[in-house]
Amino acid sequence: VTKIGVLTSGGDAPGMNAAIRAVVRTGIYNGMEVFGIMRGYSGMIDNDIVPMHSRSVANIIQRGGTILKTARCKEFFEYEGRKKAYGNLKKLGINGLVIIGGDGSFRGAHKLSEEFDIPCIGLPGTIDKDIAGTDFTIGFDTAVNTAVEAIDKIRDTADAHDRLFIIEVMGRDAGYIALHSGIATGAENILIPERKTDIEELVNGLLEKERRRKLVNIIVVAEGDRGAEDVADIIKERIPSADTRVCVLGHIQRGGAPTCMDRLIASRMGYSAVESLIEGRHNVMIGIVNNKMHYTPLEKAVKAKQKISDDWLKIVKILAS
Ligand code: ADP
Repeated sequence: VTKIGVLTSGGDAPGMNAAIRAVVRTGIYNGMEVFGIMRGYSGMIDNDIVPMHSRSVANIIQRGGTILKTARCKEFFEYEGRKKAYGNLKKLGINGLVIIGGDGSFRGAHKLSEEFDIPCIGLPGTIDKDIAGTDFTIGFDTAVNTAVEAIDKIRDTADAHDRLFIIEVMGRDAGYIALHSGIATGAENILIPERKTDIEELVNGLLEKERRRKLVNIIVVAEGDRGAEDVADIIKERIPSADTRVCVLGHIQRGGAPTCMDRLIASRMGYSAVESLIEGRHNVMIGIVNNKMHYTPLEKAVKAKQKISDDWLKIVKILAS
């Protein structure tokens, strides 16, 4: 592999820039030519591909977002789209790809590599952490820390007024942000899409706390569960005495400077992606498991989802009482 392309695709996540920087600089160190593909698979199809130099990635390790931009690309779902994309890569002589994105992006990469025999390496970039084969994904730590900071602030005002707050965090199919930020902020309840919420139990728990004059309650809800507004409606109806408010954190969780942890794993994964291309370890997703690099075939990285163990939920229950 002598010429490689790097792209960010799908949902954005803080730390993607640190990963781009690592790929570009490790590639150049190894004598490769490195190209940046703009706007995910869209830039591959539109031939929006730019040469990258060591200086192109200066002063970006600390920045959120992605200098290569990201997009969702409909045409890439079709064979014709992927054929056009591959044609553009071929014209430039690109013979290896590093895709920073989520499971959807890996699905696309897997198809491209199967149809056109181009080696692809995936780096897990998603705030949701819902990818198997890695203990960390690029962006999760930053997103969860942003959520913690926001929830701490809400708790201050909730405490001042003895209010009940329902706080919605991101995670359409995965409750990791809710689970981690909820435990770290001492939330009374955490509602995640992996578990069916027992509303009766939730209401009874709150009523019991009210009897004990525990007036400040923070409930963290993952957006994929039933949504904060829905939960608030039920609680307002069942416990009219509670001063119930809703706060949806939204997109602030995607932005901001990546944490040290995210910069570090992005750097290690980016380095390892180029090493893998050199060593011929093709069509894998790079993960970190037990602090060691871990390689999962792209087609498996797309299917598996992590499970949330019962222990975590037990911790929530015991510590929030
Ligand atoms: P993420 O990578 O964050 O999971 P998406 O699921 O939106 O985000 O996927 C990003 C892009 O990857 C899609 O817009 C599409 O271009 C490509 N992609 C996703 N799934 C497939 C698929 N089954 N076949 C081909 N391309 C796909």
